[in-house]
Amino acid sequence: MNEYDSNRILDTVKKIGYEKTEKYDDANCYLLNTCHIRDKAKEKVYSEIGRVKKIFRFKKKPLVIIAGCVAQAENQEMLRREPFIDLVIGPQAYHKINDTILNYVEKKRKLEETEFDAVTKFEYLSKIKNKVGKVSSFLTIQEGCDKFCHFCVVPYTRGPEYSRPPRQILDEAKYLADNGVREITLLGQNVNAYESNGFRLSDLILSIEKLNDIKRVRYTTSHPKDMTNDLIEVYKSSNKLMPLVHLPVQSGSNRILKLMNRNHSIENYLEIFYKLKEINSKIEFSSDFLIAYPGEGNKDFENTLNLIKKVKFINSYSYIFSPRPGTISENLDLIDKKTSFERLERIQNALFENQIKKNRSLENNIVEVLVENFTEDKTKTFGRSNHMTSVIFDGKESDIGKIVQVKIHKSNRSTLFGEIVDNSNQKVA
Ligand code: SF4
Repeated sequence: MNEYDSNRILDTVKKIGYEKTEKYDDANCYLLNTCHIRDKAKEKVYSEIGRVKKIFRFKKKPLVIIAGCVAQAENQEMLRREPFIDLVIGPQAYHKINDTILNYVEKKRKLEETEFDAVTKFEYLSKIKNKVGKVSSFLTIQEGCDKFCHFCVVPYTRGPEYSRPPRQILDEAKYLADNGVREITLLGQNVNAYESNGFRLSDLILSIEKLNDIKRVRYTTSHPKDMTNDLIEVYKSSNKLMPLVHLPVQSGSNRILKLMNRNHSIENYLEIFYKLKEINSKIEFSSDFLIAYPGEGNKDFENTLNLIKKVKFINSYSYIFSPRPGTISENLDLIDKKTSFERLERIQNALFENQIKKNRSLENNIVEVLVENFTEDKTKTFGRSNHMTSVIFDGKESDIGKIVQVKIHKSNRSTLFGEIVDNSNQKVA
């Protein structure tokens, strides 16, 4: 979501004459869009500002803006602690960025904007075109979270659940399609909680796929509780919804899920899994795992390993629990480091094994790939399979933005390598 937000911030500040530069020393404005999910997020911001300070030691100081969730969580404190910072803008207030900058340039008054105002933000942003310039683009449809998992800061930094009106989203999708985007990933902290006057995520998927130029639709990140039947059923009727479901489970133990306040059980999760597999056996799952949550015993941990064996997740994320300030689990007793690292290693090995097996099973087979660009060294092209796996092959510039058939010769854990076998049949997944 921060990638989407950063692009939208750039689209916005262009209106008052700013351009993106790759060179630090060229900048007269430095904006850091921050994420609070990772460990020590706050310290990382101050250390990054320290680095920028050094770069500008003998030069004119740039305007320094901290945006995103750390800005939201820290607000005034950032201006007090680090005088090099000029403006602090939370994730629901970045539509005010131009006024805030202009006001600062005129009056040199430091300011913090951290109101939760998603409605005005998206109304404002809908008037500014999303110039992503890529084949695959994110599109935020929902923000915030009302779930309050005990380990998570999102409900405090992104505010309550808010769904954008469908018209705004469809206009943005059409603009993206008209400007070369062929794959849209619908974004939200709780994307499948999307609901606007009875119009749900399933309706949105079916509406977006009516755009001829859009070849693929994805959505992330979901909560098992909001995996409603209409969304499950849409896998039957949709032609463009990709068969990869990213559905965070966090733990394979009902006891731990309860301690985490996840509001779903493993039985609920498996029910969704089996229903979707019945609709289309090619649907794969990926997930997020939070390892060594306070109170996690050996049996709980083994249950997580068993779930991984059962579901055979691909492309998953796994982390050791670390407390976030202001959350319910902030002061719980931590599991010792040795056990935590051993568990993480075992989980990752199990996940990697699934990934390697899955990729190997594709060798000598043909996969459909949406071609995104050349590789960095420009010698090959790359794209993604239906299951989001990177594929590198010998395509041409004219293939970019198209769906091609690639025969896979080789694979490793994260990438498939092959050659185009049939470029004429550009059937949609
Ligand atoms: S549902 Fe996701 S975003 Fe919301 S509190 Fe839980 S982990 Fe955080």
